[in-house]
Amino acid sequence: MTATAAAELPPIEVMPRDLEPYRRGNLPGIDWVHRFASGKPGPHVLVNALTHGNEFCGMSAACHLLDSGVRPKIGTLTVSFANVEAYRSFDPARPFESRQLVHNLNRIWSAAWLDGSENSPELRRARELRPVVAAADHILDIHSTSQDVQPFWVYPAFERNGAAALAIGRPTVHLVMPQGLGSGTPVIQHGLHGTPGHHGAAVVVECGQHFKRTTSELAIEVAQDFLAHFWLIEREPAPDSQRAPARRFELLQTVVIQTPEFRFTRPLKGFETFDEGELIATDGEREIRAPCADCTVLMPARVPVVGREGVYLARPMA
Ligand SMILES: [Zn+2]
Repeated sequence: MTATAAAELPPIEVMPRDLEPYRRGNLPGIDWVHRFASGKPGPHVLVNALTHGNEFCGMSAACHLLDSGVRPKIGTLTVSFANVEAYRSFDPARPFESRQLVHNLNRIWSAAWLDGSENSPELRRARELRPVVAAADHILDIHSTSQDVQPFWVYPAFERNGAAALAIGRPTVHLVMPQGLGSGTPVIQHGLHGTPGHHGAAVVVECGQHFKRTTSELAIEVAQDFLAHFWLIEREPAPDSQRAPARRFELLQTVVIQTPEFRFTRPLKGFETFDEGELIATDGEREIRAPCADCTVLMPARVPVVGREGVYLARPMA
């Protein structure tokens, strides 16, 4: 590794732990999924970790729930580790590479992909997890970001999603998606969860930078908050100090990288703003300009990869 490359790598404060003890759950034929039924009426809540293999905070939260012997007071709780195969490929010298092996496991939850003829580790795992995701009323999908930015929720603009995220109160920033993600079907838009008439909430929480300790700490809190919100466990709400007024952004456009020449006009890590019409990036001949005033960029690509998302463009909501 060159000195420059090493300098660009963030410190790894949380290392992957061995998930072998968590492999054998209690769902026949599906590894790394644990389900606990209370025997009492109530919602079925799914807490899902490691949709992306290097987003360790979900692993920390899922392990915390299982290690602490969590059991739902009502309804049913399922805890899952999604892309363990990518997770196990982690190499501290290339910590961003284990996000996925072939496909992005958070873009292939449409019938077209799941029922299609292609194959990959992610498609196999998504097909395996399909009944697990479909069985849940409410879904918390735990993620983290490559850049060190403040945590935020991401969800389709259904009232049920915003209601849950607002009630839980932390993180305080929300990225609301009126048209969905726009670059594939994520876990939280699978099947009925992607439709307006459904009753269940399905949200992503982005807890901070992948490898920071505080990211894992927040994921552990939010996972428990989510269970408490649906009355599966008892828990004090988040302290007022962590419940600042919500700041909400509406996703306007998902920019997918088309050429190897994709470049931002200045270094971005997320939450920078651009004036309407201002140039944000170029992608070969294509210019990516801010579609609105105070255009806010989220999740800018660390390294441009053709076919992957370059940046999300959002506008602040009143
Ligand atoms: Zn992710």
